[in-house]
Amino acid sequence: MTEKRDYYEMLGISKGASADDLKKAYRKLAMKYHPDRNQSDKEAERKFKEINEAYEILKDDQKRAAYDRYGHAAFDPAAGGFGGGARHGGASPGFDFHFSTGGGGFSDIFEEVFSEFMGGGARQQGSASSAQRGSDLRYNLKVSLEDAFKGAQITIKLNTPIKCDACEGHGAAKGTKPETCTTCRGRGAVRMQQGFFTVERTCTTCNGAGQIIKDPCKTCRGSGRKTGERKLSVAIPAGIEDGSRIRLAGEGESGLRGGPAGDLYVFVSIEPHRLFEREGADLYCKAPISFGTAALGGTLEVPTIDGNHVRVTIPEGTQSGRQFRLKSKGMSILRRSGRGDMIIQVSVETPVHLNKRQKELLKELDETMKKGDHTPENDKFMTKVKKFLEGLRHCLSLWGL
Ligand SMILES: [Zn+2]
Ligand SMILES: [Zn+2]
Repeated sequence: MTEKRDYYEMLGISKGASADDLKKAYRKLAMKYHPDRNQSDKEAERKFKEINEAYEILKDDQKRAAYDRYGHAAFDPAAGGFGGGARHGGASPGFDFHFSTGGGGFSDIFEEVFSEFMGGGARQQGSASSAQRGSDLRYNLKVSLEDAFKGAQITIKLNTPIKCDACEGHGAAKGTKPETCTTCRGRGAVRMQQGFFTVERTCTTCNGAGQIIKDPCKTCRGSGRKTGERKLSVAIPAGIEDGSRIRLAGEGESGLRGGPAGDLYVFVSIEPHRLFEREGADLYCKAPISFGTAALGGTLEVPTIDGNHVRVTIPEGTQSGRQFRLKSKGMSILRRSGRGDMIIQVSVETPVHLNKRQKELLKELDETMKKGDHTPENDKFMTKVKKFLEGLRHCLSLWGL
């Protein structure tokens, strides 16, 4: 029964707007009304909640369809509507702004918006007193290929809002507690008779929190949290892929005034390795071999990702680019036993900085190789050249040249 503005109107878009336009409109408004840019501005805070609520519904195709059909009634629990994730925190009349989507999903917009406001240091949330869920956080973690191979426990440090220990997070000064609002009896909203209708409005005494902090905690000025460093241990499973995301539930920003904490998302990128290139579970390694080894054959010793060595037999007459596959010497595979392969690709190195004697020997060798089948690739190539020139001569004679 509350008179609410149309979601499309809130975001300034038309009913048929594309998902892209929706996102753009949301992003623009989210920037404009973000609390970090509008400290203690009630109107901006209200707007910010409003656009978040609208976006949360409209970005979800199913919810959007329901909204298009039934309007706000689609999400009104009293009307037996859609419900599910559209609202948080019973007493709060508005919408909690955190950037994650409700059910463990991840709003792609989160990263952009979030990074823009990270520079601002500690957050001040104005004077609103309702409990709010803390924001989700992103942490970019670089992991070496060796750690990705064997798995690791990595300690990370975060500078984030954490629970204020002076007031244990509820925001009231030591020895006191937030009191239940007498105007709304803790409901956060009051009912008013307006003609035939009963209209429910946000309680103005407590701003919808249902509680009043008469004597705010001195340490956190009533917010229930402070900025502090946290150390966390992140378990990196063996075989983790580049770009993986690890969710640590409840390790994000601490909630406001006793609200639940957000989640922490650790984005794992695997550092390039100086020796190996990963392709799925396989590791590629490029190894140069000398002209002599390639011609006569020999052995090549190569390190493996597990810290050991393997010996590769190079057969006589090995050509540049040849690959040798070593079974089960590659990466470990996530949540599975067994390993991928290691593929060694050799390249024959042309000798440089030759002295006079070496040059003589090489010339001599070259002379002897003119007879006999020593350079099959070169012979094949020369045959092709010969045929090409013959064809050309034939054409020229046809044209009378
Ligand atoms: Zn405190
Ligand atoms: Zn109240």
